[in-house]
Amino acid sequence: MKTIDDLGVAGRRVFVRADLNVPLDSGAITDDGRIRAAVPTIGRLAEAGARVIVASHLGRPKGAPDPRFSLAPVAGRLGELLGREVAFATDTVGESAKSTVGALADGQVAVLENLRFNAGETSKDDAERGAFADSLAALADVYVGDGFGAVHRRHASVYDLPARLPHAAGGLIATEVGVLRKLTDDVERPYAVVLGGAKVSDKLGVIDHLLERADRILVGGGMAYTFLKAQGHEIGASLLQEDQIPAVQGYLKRAEERGVEFVLPVDVVAAAGFPDLSTKAPSEPVTVAADAIPSGLMGLDIGPRSQELYAAKLADAATVFWNGPMGVFEHPDYAEGTRAVAQALIDSPAFTVVGGGDSAAAVRILGFDEEAFGHISTGGGASLEYLEGKTLPGLAALED
Ligand code: ADP
Ligand code: MG
Repeated sequence: MKTIDDLGVAGRRVFVRADLNVPLDSGAITDDGRIRAAVPTIGRLAEAGARVIVASHLGRPKGAPDPRFSLAPVAGRLGELLGREVAFATDTVGESAKSTVGALADGQVAVLENLRFNAGETSKDDAERGAFADSLAALADVYVGDGFGAVHRRHASVYDLPARLPHAAGGLIATEVGVLRKLTDDVERPYAVVLGGAKVSDKLGVIDHLLERADRILVGGGMAYTFLKAQGHEIGASLLQEDQIPAVQGYLKRAEERGVEFVLPVDVVAAAGFPDLSTKAPSEPVTVAADAIPSGLMGLDIGPRSQELYAAKLADAATVFWNGPMGVFEHPDYAEGTRAVAQALIDSPAFTVVGGGDSAAAVRILGFDEEAFGHISTGGGASLEYLEGKTLPGLAALED
């Protein structure tokens, strides 16, 4: 992959595909981690005298403008973090974009409106995506791919646009790929993986792949209950993906055959219903054994004995990859499991990588120092697919 140093950027219009897809709560940015991760490359290009055009998606608008997903607040925050004025185009390839880009002087930065306000960005139709990529290409002279969180998407700005312009990888993508190589090429053992989050189905591919590579797999979060059910335990009203039980049973069997240690919660924090995440009103959590969750109760976090167990399983690891919160960390009653795993990563001498949009946000929202981890990835799906050994369209497009 070429780097920015291989491109002449001074005086040229440089299209930076960043990933500024940050969580918003009624228009306010709740975690600006991805914006901060994008700053070094954008700042460097501006320093080098480029006319920087920053583009990203935000959320999942339906191919048309939707003010709830405007990048305007993100552009404002980017300006603060860069310490530079940042212009904002109220469309992506229309009159506003053309005039905003046309007005850029060397060293200035503009942000385009949400790429997904155009149906061509995510279209499955090559011609429709290509037409949108043509319009984007007309705005710029060169392309820098730096939106690691989107490289697993075959989208116009990620996959089709770099084919139309001289291109290079930005610093963030270079860093992310360097870290993930350490987890795939010659990983230091013991290699422990912690998986959580809501759904097993999101993580099947990575579990399948890791069964051949990891020494230990620790499971928490909503997905743990499908595992507990697959082992024949009562899980009450906890999250269950019944259709995944056969797959999960297959994994448990393969783990045993291969000598991969599978660690499941021994106790869970449960409640009669899902907590209110907007008011964060106190709920009535109870700790129960993981192999006998009373009917009517919903497991929402791993319990204190599980926290200790997981910490012990991470203490002597040499490499740890963590994806997915251990519980509904957005509510203070169910954040302790996630907090304990984050602390265990910090306390472990291992090289630690946190991957996953929600896990990375959780680490910051719970107040941990990012520097205390080996690496916090900006890509959830992207890092999982990389670990699965898949070809990522946005990386392949930067290769030649
Ligand atoms: P990541 O983005 O890190 O990959 P996911 O998107 O897979 O993580 O999952 C994050 C979500 O999982 C969080 O919003 C969290 O509230 C939810 N979650 C965690 N544990 C549970 C649980 N026991 N029941 C329901 N949802 C859960
Ligand atoms: Mg997520």
